[in-house]
Amino acid sequence: MDSLDAFAAAKLETLDAANLRRRLIPTTRTSPAHVRRGDRTLISFSCNDYLGLAQHPRVKAAAIAAVERYGAGAGASRLVTGDHPLLGQLEARLAGFKGTEAALVFGSGYLANIGVIPALAGPGDLVLLDELSHACMVSGARLSGARIVTFAHNDMNQLAELLAAERHHGAHALVLTERVFSMDGDQAPLPALLAIAQAYDAWTLVDDAHGLGVVAPDALAPLELGTLSKALGSLGGYLCASTPVIDLLKSRARSFVYATGLPPASAAAALAALDILDDEPERSRRPLTLARRFTAALGLAPAMSAIVPIPVGDATRALALSAALAEQGMLVVAIRPPTVPPGTARLRVAFSAAHDEADVDALVQAMADVGAVGTPSLETAG
Ligand code: PMP
Repeated sequence: MDSLDAFAAAKLETLDAANLRRRLIPTTRTSPAHVRRGDRTLISFSCNDYLGLAQHPRVKAAAIAAVERYGAGAGASRLVTGDHPLLGQLEARLAGFKGTEAALVFGSGYLANIGVIPALAGPGDLVLLDELSHACMVSGARLSGARIVTFAHNDMNQLAELLAAERHHGAHALVLTERVFSMDGDQAPLPALLAIAQAYDAWTLVDDAHGLGVVAPDALAPLELGTLSKALGSLGGYLCASTPVIDLLKSRARSFVYATGLPPASAAAALAALDILDDEPERSRRPLTLARRFTAALGLAPAMSAIVPIPVGDATRALALSAALAEQGMLVVAIRPPTVPPGTARLRVAFSAAHDEADVDALVQAMADVGAVGTPSLETAG
């Protein structure tokens, strides 16, 4: 074995020993709420397609029409020849949706974070990061070369203290958080956070990946970043912000400047999804309603988003519970470190407008049957 393969094999052995090795499982989505794995069809509580739009006939038709008209790929980066007309339409639409002056679309939410953060903060500046922020915000912060300081999850007193103590004279400070935390389903206290940031003239970037289309914002940050890949059922990332900020990013965000433009089909699908959000406001209320039915039945704190974590702790036990739920026809993927902090492995349940009440009640029962939770009280569900 050469040294490269030996390196990889040794790393894999370590991951195997800790039950942290990841493996792909071929999965076919057979309906907005169902997947097929092997010879089994499962109700999926692990898709981020919160409004069931990835499979929606209007969304699919828009994507197909865009391929017919503009082709399969953008052909080049936006600044070269990849700026097909759907991208400008999508940016105007996103800016209108968020109420900002402008927007910029990226190839994914990950690419948006790793492009935006280093374009706005650099060596000498301070990036303050909620400790539960998504991996791509951490990557963006690292790429910036700024000093990174984490604050305890949603701890606004600590954020204020750090802003007062840690920032060097003349440096910028950028605060990073999420509207809805991806693995915990809770929300950042944005009105308080924005007030603190403003008091210290710090800039705030909120990643709304899991909020858009599901959770009504209680405050808007100057930098509203997100993805087209979850409630909008497509692929791509965006930043909504003021015109000067967006114009700067067109020249300075490296993941924008040096990457091929989003394909026409993805842009068209996202535009069609935004139309559906406008036309069917009830659809956006369903994931939270269903999540609250679930938390009420299990006696948990009311859900604040489509995401409800069931704490397990040990990664091996989380995997075993997930396997037992699959035996009962439910797909609830186990989330393990390093996606979540060590010792906090969990089952992450994601509700969708594509589920119905019977799906939720069946999951509650299955959770109890496999011993993931105590005895439920379905009478209280509502
Ligand atoms: N931000 C957050 C909070 C996320 O959870 C994710 C994806 N899971 C991303 C960004 C990345 O978005 P994308 O999948 O569009 O790259």
